[in-house]
Amino acid sequence: MVALLAERITAVRTGIAHACANVGRDPQAVTLVAVSKTHPASAVLEAVEAGLHQFGENRVEEAAGKIAAVNAQCREPLTWHMIGHLQSRKARDAANLFDVVQSVDSVRLASKLAQALPEGQVLTVLLECNVSGEASKGGFVLNGWERDPAVLADFARSLGEIAALPGLSVRGLMTMAPIADDMELVRPVFRSLRVLRDALEQSCGMALPVLSMGMTDDFPVAIEEGATMIRVGRALFGERAAL
Ligand SMILES: *Cc1c(COP(=O)(O)O)cnc(C)c1O
Repeated sequence: MVALLAERITAVRTGIAHACANVGRDPQAVTLVAVSKTHPASAVLEAVEAGLHQFGENRVEEAAGKIAAVNAQCREPLTWHMIGHLQSRKARDAANLFDVVQSVDSVRLASKLAQALPEGQVLTVLLECNVSGEASKGGFVLNGWERDPAVLADFARSLGEIAALPGLSVRGLMTMAPIADDMELVRPVFRSLRVLRDALEQSCGMALPVLSMGMTDDFPVAIEEGATMIRVGRALFGERAAL
């Protein structure tokens, strides 16, 4: 198992290196988040042994048990990312479990997270953006933002409110591209997120260095379009059992 996982990690790292070489980027500038959802704590422990330190989960209950089980057996400092839709009523648990919440999709959720943080603790957050307009996708609705200045202005206002909350450190944006057979079809989605980030940095005077975009099927294109963080599940841990 460990050997197989090591091979898969090498294959993903090679993919990262190729995509970076295509556009003259430094592979060190791309953080690999291993998406361990549906896989047991033992899979995470194997991945730590194989050199991975950042993990992504999409359900609070599942993550709670897994993180406790991993921490009981592992001394290395790990970074846990919440990448799935988060209901406000679970904000307290999420704020205590995770180091990063990538799926902040409202000012209301952000303020619940801020309220739940123990004094002095900082939670890194990314704002999830729906730039493709797919109804099934979560996040701030931003499709058409290039043509409608009001959409960008609204989002910039939300960003400002979230950035002003105590304890939250807003570091960037996250998106999920639509599922497509050809990854070239999703390139405009990733490009749109990068251009949106640039526009926000201009209008808000804030640094937003993190662009979390790209998964197993599309991470090379996401990297070519500027991803600084990719979230990869199946390419590392294999197919997930159907839920
Ligand atoms: C499951 C998931 C991933 C990883 O998807 P793979 O196709 O397994 O790489 C990435 N991001 C989010 C938000 C997810 O829910």
